[in-house]
Amino acid sequence: MIVGVTGGIASGKSTVARAFAALGVPWVDADDVAREVVEPGEPALREIAERYGERVLQADGRLNRRALREIVFADERERRWLESVTHPRIRQRIIGQLERMQAEGAPYVLLVSPLLFESRQSELADRCLVIDVPESLQIARTAARDDVDEAQARAIVAAQMPRSERLARADDVIDNAGSEDELAVQVAELDRRYREMRIP
Ligand code: ATP
Repeated sequence: MIVGVTGGIASGKSTVARAFAALGVPWVDADDVAREVVEPGEPALREIAERYGERVLQADGRLNRRALREIVFADERERRWLESVTHPRIRQRIIGQLERMQAEGAPYVLLVSPLLFESRQSELADRCLVIDVPESLQIARTAARDDVDEAQARAIVAAQMPRSERLARADDVIDNAGSEDELAVQVAELDRRYREMRIP
């Protein structure tokens, strides 16, 4: 069984993934995979460099993310082109990693993705688990963790999928407005249920 895990910025996806890992459940991080497919030597990076030239590469040959972001932010067509180059490869690699973990005997596996619904990666999952926190707490935790002020954090939250929409698509919900101990209790309860679901 594949459980998709999502939530807005600073909702606690990584914290939840670590709590499941402590119970022996592995995960694939879609953000990590998205970075891997554009590493030097990868065909996606070659295609990107062929289309935009040196300006999207750093001196060391790695992708200049800021330069690429500026190009695709300004042009919807280019954004779609970039997605057509990266998304299928991200998806294939996610599937490969999930299959490997399942073959190694994991009780079930997690696909942790901030854009689980938006990128339709939820299609790869049997269930979707949403980490839910009030927006005020998301903003406070973002500002405390990242180098952004509250106004910037609020803007990021406002640009993401609305909380209500995410919740409407959830099969399961973790309320992460409490302490990390309270989070661990919810994770343990879900883990118990997921292990039972796996049995036909
Ligand atoms: P992002 O998508 O932005 O990478 P995320 O959803 O993976 O974030 P985390 O990095 O797990 O979120 O958590 C965001 C911040 O909130 C971290 O600094 C984390 O330590 C803190 N945090 C998470 N859960 C709790 C909690 N229950 N109590 C207090 N702090 C928490």
